Amino acid sequence: MSKKSEPRTNAEWMALDREFVLQARYTSPYVLERGQASTLWDVEGREFLDFHSGQVCANTGHCHPELVEATAKQLALLVQTGSMFTNPPQILLAKKLAEITPEPLQKSFFACSGSEAIEMALRAAKFATGRSEVMGVLRSYHGMSMGAFTLSSVAGFGKQGYGYAVANVSHMPPPYCYRCDFNQTYPGCKRECLAYGKKISELIGAPAGIVLELVVSGGGVYVPPVEWVHELHAYCRERGILFIVDECQTGIGRTGRWFAFEHFGVVPDIVVTSKGLGGGIPLSGILVGRDVAATLETKGFVQSSSHSGDPLLCAGGLANIELIERNDLLANVRARGAQLKDGLQQLVKRYEIVGDTRGIGLLQGLEIVIDKQSRTQNGKAAGAIVQYCTDNGLFLGAPASKQNIIRLLPPFVVTEREVGTALDILDRAIFTASADAGLRPKVMAVR
Ligand code: PMP
Repeated sequence: MSKKSEPRTNAEWMALDREFVLQARYTSPYVLERGQASTLWDVEGREFLDFHSGQVCANTGHCHPELVEATAKQLALLVQTGSMFTNPPQILLAKKLAEITPEPLQKSFFACSGSEAIEMALRAAKFATGRSEVMGVLRSYHGMSMGAFTLSSVAGFGKQGYGYAVANVSHMPPPYCYRCDFNQTYPGCKRECLAYGKKISELIGAPAGIVLELVVSGGGVYVPPVEWVHELHAYCRERGILFIVDECQTGIGRTGRWFAFEHFGVVPDIVVTSKGLGGGIPLSGILVGRDVAATLETKGFVQSSSHSGDPLLCAGGLANIELIERNDLLANVRARGAQLKDGLQQLVKRYEIVGDTRGIGLLQGLEIVIDKQSRTQNGKAAGAIVQYCTDNGLFLGAPASKQNIIRLLPPFVVTEREVGTALDILDRAIFTASADAGLRPKVMAVR
C-alpha cells in the first residue's frame, strides 16, 4: 500500500486491522505509533502516560536512546547465529547476569518469550532431577504455551475451549492473604495453604520443581509472606525439589532490586526472566545455579530454538542492564515506587471501593471491591476505572477477564511529576466510579 493511501485515523487503522489481523485481545481503540520514555502517542497524535510499560517489557522506557544505539550498532554487525554457535553479546550478557545475581546462580540460557523460558525451566528441572511432575501455585500466570499455561491459573483467562492441558502438573493454594482460601487471617495463621500444598506434593511423590512468582502480578498483585517463602524453600531443599522463581515481571529491577527473590533472603535454583530483560526487545532466559548447571551439562541437556542467544537480542539485553546501572535507575524505582505506594494508600483510605493496595517498587496493584466490609470483587468498577484512565491519557495494567485488580507498572525512568499526574487521573477515575455506584468518597483529592 502506498503511503498516500495509508489510513490516518485510529478508526481507519482499526478497520484495516479487523480485516487482516486475527482478532484475539485488543480492547483499546487507540492505534499506537510512537513512544519515548513513559509516553506513547497514537496515530492521531494523542498522548498517553504508559503505566503498563508496553505490557511490562519497555521497563527502561520506550526507545531509550542508549538501547536504541546499542541495538542499531549490533543490527549492522550480526543479527542472528542460530543455536549451534555462540557469540560475544550472548557471552557478555550471561557474564553480566552472573555478576548481578548472588552465588550459586552462574549460568544462563536465552530465548525470546517468557513462555518459552518457562518451558525451558520445566525441561531443565525434569531433566536434572529425573522426575516428571511439576507444581505451580494457583492464581499465577506463566504464559500461553502449553506447559506454561497449564501451570497458570488466572480465573477465567482463556482456559475454556483449548483442549487438553499438559500432564503431570499439580497446583498448591495461593498465599493470597486478602482472600484466604482457608478463612484465616495473616499474621497469626498457621500457613494452612502451604501445609495443603506440601500434602499435594507428597501425594504426587515430590515434583521436579515448584514454579512460583514472588510478587504475583497478573494473578492479583499479591506478595507472599516471607515466612511462607522461607518454609517452601526449606521444604524444596529437604525433598530435592527445584525452587523455580518466575521473574518475568519482577526481574531486572522492577521491585527496586535486580530480582524479587532478593527481598526474601532466598536464592532460587532456577530463575526465569523475560520482558524487562530486553527492555522491549524479545529476550528471555533462565539462570541456573552451578550445581544444576553441572548436572544438566553432565547429563547432556539439549535445548534449542532458532533464536536462542541471538547477538541482536543479547546486545539489547546487555545494553539494557548497563543503562540501568549507569543511570542508577534502581534508585528511581525505589523512590517512585514509594511515592506511588503512598498515593495508592491514600486512595484506599479515601474510597470505599478501593479495598487494598499491594506491591513492591514499581509493581503496584489496587483491589477494587463493592465495599471494604464484604471485599466482594468489583470487576465492573475496575473496568470503568481503567476505561476512564485510558480515555484521559493513562494506560494501566487492565484486569484480566472480569477480574478486579488494577495494576500500575510504569517504566523505571518515570518522573515524580508523571507519578503525580497518574495518581490524579486515577483519583478522578475512582471518584467517578464511586459516584456511579452511589458511594460518596470520604474526601476529594487534595494533592
Ligand atoms: N510469567 C509471567 C509472570 C508473566 O507475567 C508472563 C507474561 N505476562 C509470562 C510468564 C509469559 O511471558 P510471554 O507473554 O512473553 O510468553
